[in-house]
Amino acid sequence: MIECINLSKQFDDLVVLKDIYLHIRPQEIVVLLGPSGSGKSTLLRCMNGLEEPTKGSVRVGSVKWDATGNLPSKKQALRDIRTFTGMVFQSFNLFPHMTVLENIIMPPMTVKKMPKAQAIQLAESLLAKVGLQDKMYEHPSRLSGGQQQRVAIARSLAMNPQIMLFDEPTSALDPELTGEVLAVMKQLALEGMTMIVVTHEMKFAREVSNRVIFMSDGVIQEEGTPEQFFDQPQTDRARKFLRQMD
Ligand code: ADP
Ligand code: MG
Repeated sequence: MIECINLSKQFDDLVVLKDIYLHIRPQEIVVLLGPSGSGKSTLLRCMNGLEEPTKGSVRVGSVKWDATGNLPSKKQALRDIRTFTGMVFQSFNLFPHMTVLENIIMPPMTVKKMPKAQAIQLAESLLAKVGLQDKMYEHPSRLSGGQQQRVAIARSLAMNPQIMLFDEPTSALDPELTGEVLAVMKQLALEGMTMIVVTHEMKFAREVSNRVIFMSDGVIQEEGTPEQFFDQPQTDRARKFLRQMD
């Protein structure tokens, strides 16, 4: 679904990703761990076209995204990448002046030219899925953080992405609200959605993921099954990271 080949990303003199090789297969649930500043967000942002690789490439579905700018149409490539991937951020990013329903129907109506009646039907089923049918006509400011994040997930799903990228989706939430968001993500995983999740929720990582990738300093230091990573970390960095998470 996604393949990074020798992917490097540099901001001025700062090399943030160094020769990343990563292949994500259908229905994998990959958790990306690592200390703050290790390049996790930048890696996700390269995968959905928010950042351009400095070297190497990212193949997203059938689109190869690389540093050469050597694409027949960059605009079309970005559109394809963003249709293929759904992204959920720490900070929800809902449109505050729109109702929950309007937030969800807007992307499929504008990007995919979906008829309004069909978009509303889709929004209703997605809101049912995240347990928020009764909030359809509310504005985001009237919802809790956990509810807003569930709306953000529903909005992302409305574009029918092939893979979901989550960047610390529960980090901005009060602890008592993280569970409802993780439950929605776990349900998605069970339904076969392919996912990459950056998170500090170690219990979720252990229970839900098929593969853990540990990054530090822009490099993949280790990867393996959750059992391998949590029970037998191979590097000092990973052991130190896990101690700090306890
Ligand atoms: P993580 O998500 O693991 O905390 P990031 O990918 O956000 O790490 O950041 C990795 C490094 O890249 C950090 O040192 C950060 O300051 C730097 N960085 C990220 N985005 C930019 C940018 N747009 N311009 C300059 N530096 C950036
Ligand atoms: Mg980050």
